[in-house]
Amino acid sequence: MKALRLAEPLIRPEGTSEETWTGWGGLARLRLVDTDALVPDDSRVVVVAPHPDDEVLMIGGLLVQLARKGIPVRVIAVTDGTASHRGSSAWTPRRLQQLRPQESRAALRCLGITEPPLRLRLDDGGLAKQHGRLAERLCGLIDRRDIVFTTWRRDGHPDHEATARACVSATRRRCARLVEVPVWAWNWARPGDPRLPWRDAFRLTLDADARRRKCFAMQAYESQIVPDHSTGAGPVLDAVMLQRAARPFEVIFSGEDLARSMS
Ligand SMILES: [Zn+2]
Repeated sequence: MKALRLAEPLIRPEGTSEETWTGWGGLARLRLVDTDALVPDDSRVVVVAPHPDDEVLMIGGLLVQLARKGIPVRVIAVTDGTASHRGSSAWTPRRLQQLRPQESRAALRCLGITEPPLRLRLDDGGLAKQHGRLAERLCGLIDRRDIVFTTWRRDGHPDHEATARACVSATRRRCARLVEVPVWAWNWARPGDPRLPWRDAFRLTLDADARRRKCFAMQAYESQIVPDHSTGAGPVLDAVMLQRAARPFEVIFSGEDLARSMS
C-alpha cells in the first residue's frame, strides 16, 4: 500500500525576500502597461477580493490612479476573512468578521474609493468547495463593459485559486475581461520561476501619490499587521509583504497563454 503524501503547502513563513525580487532584472524587463491602456475610460473596474486586504495587495496603486480619473470601481469581498487567526483568543472569528470589513473600507478610503465593498460572506478557507456558487453570484454582478481583477489562478492559496476559477467562469459567460494578479506567488516563487506566466505579465508604474496612498492604506489592516499575543504568532502580513506593497509598480497577468494554462 502506498503511503499517503500530503501536498506541500507552497506558502512559507520566510518567503522570497523583496531584495531577491528587486535584484532580478526580469521585473524591469516586463512589458509596460499604463492605466489608460489597461482600463479604457468607458470601463468599470470590478475587484474580486478573496479576503479583505487582497484588494490593496493586488492593485491598491492602480485603484488610486483610477479613482483620480473618475473610473467607477466596485470591490467585491468574497469572504469577511474570519479565518486569518486560527486558535487565537485575541482575534476571534466573531471579532474579525466585524473588524476586517471596516479595515477594508478605511483602506479603500485612503485610495480615494468611498463606495464600500459588496460583501458576499462566503466561508473563509472554504472557497474551493464554493467556487460554483461564487461564479453564479459573480455572473449577476458583472457585465461586458467590466474589467475584472482578481488573484492569480495558481497563486498558492486555495481561496485565491478558487476565486480566480469562479472569475474565469463568470467573465467568460458575461464576456467581460479578466486580469489576474499574483499575491502569495511572490512569497513562494523565485525570480524567473517557470511556474509563473511571465509572457503574460505586465508592469504598471505607480506614481508617487499612488505609492504613498497604497502604503498608507496597508496600515488600515491592523488585524493583519500586528503580532498575535494570544498565540505568539507574528503578523499575517509580515514586513516582507509590506515592503512588497511599497513597490513603485504592480504586476498583472493578462493574455491568451493564461487562458490556455487553465485547461
Ligand atoms: Zn487573501
